[in-house]
Amino acid sequence: MDLTEDEIEQIKAAVQQLPLEEQETALRKELAKFSSDKIQQCPFCLMIEGKIRTVDVYEDDICKAVLEINPANPGHIILFPKTHNRSLDELSENEINILYKTAHKLAIILLKLSEGINIIISDGVASGKKFEHIIISIIPRFKDDNINIYWQGKPEKLEKLEKFAEKIKEKIPKEKKKKEEINEDELESYLVKPKHRIPN
Ligand SMILES: [Zn+2]
Repeated sequence: MDLTEDEIEQIKAAVQQLPLEEQETALRKELAKFSSDKIQQCPFCLMIEGKIRTVDVYEDDICKAVLEINPANPGHIILFPKTHNRSLDELSENEINILYKTAHKLAIILLKLSEGINIIISDGVASGKKFEHIIISIIPRFKDDNINIYWQGKPEKLEKLEKFAEKIKEKIPKEKKKKEEINEDELESYLVKPKHRIPN
């Protein structure tokens, strides 16, 4: 996206006055305003703007879920953030929380209307990703529905798996590890205490 200097100054002015934790979300919103005409071709942005007719199943401030117009199976849902995020690492913490929770809830609903479920998120050139805008496909499955989500597993040596695990683990932020190390006494203090005692 190419912004003029004036546009950059305008964005800075809108974002800098906010508390640090709100700046990221605000920055995305500001950028989205300026980029809306430049990414007009994005079908998901057009759906959010109401320029493409959709059959909606869910919507909040952060995301929207619609029925796929060419469903793999009846009930096939596409869930996407309202900001034009091109990759997973562009999603804000808040978008991640809302999107994944919403996907989870919709999947449980679809699971009751089908015999199985696939949740698919694609990113990166080799993934088969079709659009710039990050989307989550939630596909209800039925026995013998002829949908192929399949790969041939290749046997791997344990040492190679361990090396790869190390590569992944060293990139996991340290503060997340701390949360897992909560001791039992601390955990006890977090537990909600019942307000009313049930009489015997
Ligand atoms: Zn978009």
